[in-house]
Amino acid sequence: MSQHSESFVAKSTVKAADREHRRKINFNIGKYNSVVPKGKLQFSDVNLAREKAKNQKWKAIETLDKCLENFEAAITKRGAKVIWAEDTAQALEAIGKICAEKNCKTLVKSKSMVTEEIHLNDYLEKQGIESVETDLGEYIQQLDGEPPYHIVTPAMHKSKEDVAKLFAEKLGTDPKLNPEQLTLVAREKLREKYASAEVGVTGANFIIADIGAIAVTENEGNARLSCSMPKTHIVITSIEKVIPSINDLALFWPLLSTFGTGQMVTVYNTIVTGPRQPGEVDGPDEMYVILLDNGRTNILADPKQRESLYCIRCGACLNACPVYKNIGGHAYETPYSGPIGSVITPHLKPLGEWKHLSYASSLCGNCTEVCAVKINLHELLLENRHEAVEEGHSVFVERMAWKMWKQAMLRRSLMNAANGNIKSWLINKIGKAWTRHRSNLDFPKKSFNEQWKEKYGNR
Ligand code: SF4
Repeated sequence: MSQHSESFVAKSTVKAADREHRRKINFNIGKYNSVVPKGKLQFSDVNLAREKAKNQKWKAIETLDKCLENFEAAITKRGAKVIWAEDTAQALEAIGKICAEKNCKTLVKSKSMVTEEIHLNDYLEKQGIESVETDLGEYIQQLDGEPPYHIVTPAMHKSKEDVAKLFAEKLGTDPKLNPEQLTLVAREKLREKYASAEVGVTGANFIIADIGAIAVTENEGNARLSCSMPKTHIVITSIEKVIPSINDLALFWPLLSTFGTGQMVTVYNTIVTGPRQPGEVDGPDEMYVILLDNGRTNILADPKQRESLYCIRCGACLNACPVYKNIGGHAYETPYSGPIGSVITPHLKPLGEWKHLSYASSLCGNCTEVCAVKINLHELLLENRHEAVEEGHSVFVERMAWKMWKQAMLRRSLMNAANGNIKSWLINKIGKAWTRHRSNLDFPKKSFNEQWKEKYGNR
């Protein structure tokens, strides 16, 4: 068992028994479940819309090299600088260099899972740069010293009372503030930061290949402020976020908002095509776009797993997953949790250390049912398990257990050799893996074969 696997089991065991945690998650996911069906009504045929989105993402991923080159050529013409980063180290080095050139002391940052993936805040802190999260959920998590809990709703596991208590502890506010008052407190603190920050960092929900732009979707206006108020705007995005054309946004924007939050369309949708142009009054002097690979091309090279690059990070599969709803987002110890996280993480990081996530699934298929772009998530989880075994990451005991099971399944006489008492004893006392988290198994006294004969004779 890898260290990550042990930690995952330990954290999951604690969370699965935490009723208060479950209550909060059920409450918040319940609210989500009540609005998503209404959002879906905007599509005359929601399944067709998902199918079309899958086709467009297929097109983008199959021509990823051309799409990215086209994006680079178009956005560079308008003065943006594109930086290709193979891994975390290269991305951080590029950001560090830009910040040093701009003598950056304060940086404002909108919500971006890629920045979580590369641990940007930790890096900036070491460089003596204050990095301020401007999305309210991320701001709450930063105040609490916790990573995001969910890819769309970073503080989903906190109630409004938890947030009021946190603000009181960290900011000295009245612990009885309501959500509106808390939002105003955060807003006041953040406005000062936008004005003083030298650099603004955002992610990109989509990279638009044909016109050379990035699209950012948000509900608070903080991303728009982060990219327009500081003199320098850095976009950090992973390469699979590409869509072929600006025309595709007519489909992807409503799809992302409906599957992400149940809205028909998100409040602020921004298309950024470069830094401020001559004659324009708003926008940064400079814009950099860092295109991060960090293992995506490994997934691209695997024809079976390639489909996972279609993900638009709507978070629907997390909300639908019975495992996620019980153990929560932090047990995964990865920025991408839930079914999609379990699919991609073992390919973005060493498979042997992260294969356990592929087993964090009941394989009920609910994730596949709800996916905005129809990714066959549960089948990819199975494929991950297969690849892990093929690459020799299964342990000796597991291999032996399956061999014995196979032999027994192939020979009726072997299956009948032990009576029910012996089978129960073997599972409950010897094979303790079963009973560690479950009640004892009680095998029938007679085997299935004996019961069949009694009922139907030798038919
Ligand atoms: S895998 Fe599908 S459901 Fe899950 S976040 Fe990505 S697009 Fe949404």
